[in-house]
Amino acid sequence: MALQQPCPCGSGTSYDACCGRLHRGAALAQTPEELMRSRYAAYAVGDLDHVFRTWHPRTRPDDLAADPGLTWTGLEILGAGADWVEFTASFERNGVPGQMHERSSFEQRGGRWVYVDGDLT
Ligand SMILES: [Zn+2]
Repeated sequence: MALQQPCPCGSGTSYDACCGRLHRGAALAQTPEELMRSRYAAYAVGDLDHVFRTWHPRTRPDDLAADPGLTWTGLEILGAGADWVEFTASFERNGVPGQMHERSSFEQRGGRWVYVDGDLT
């Protein structure tokens, strides 16, 4: 991922100035929405370490494997509150477009926002 390219989360700023900062540990998400964007962007650029690190230990899977047939193509934030974010994420699986719609919940743990779980709708 080139640092000056637009961030995959769709913020309109460069990857480096947006989710890239969070991926490389230079900044922490200040809000659930910022964390959610960074997790989407991490899936999009293949930084599964970031996805794992920001997942609550109680709910996260033992390990994460990349899905080579899956490409993330866009994110739309539909709403966000004190501890939740609702979004639609677009993808292509083996060339076939699809979307997932989720309301995710987040928790602060040791001063850091972490993803807890999500309801697919
Ligand atoms: Zn971003």
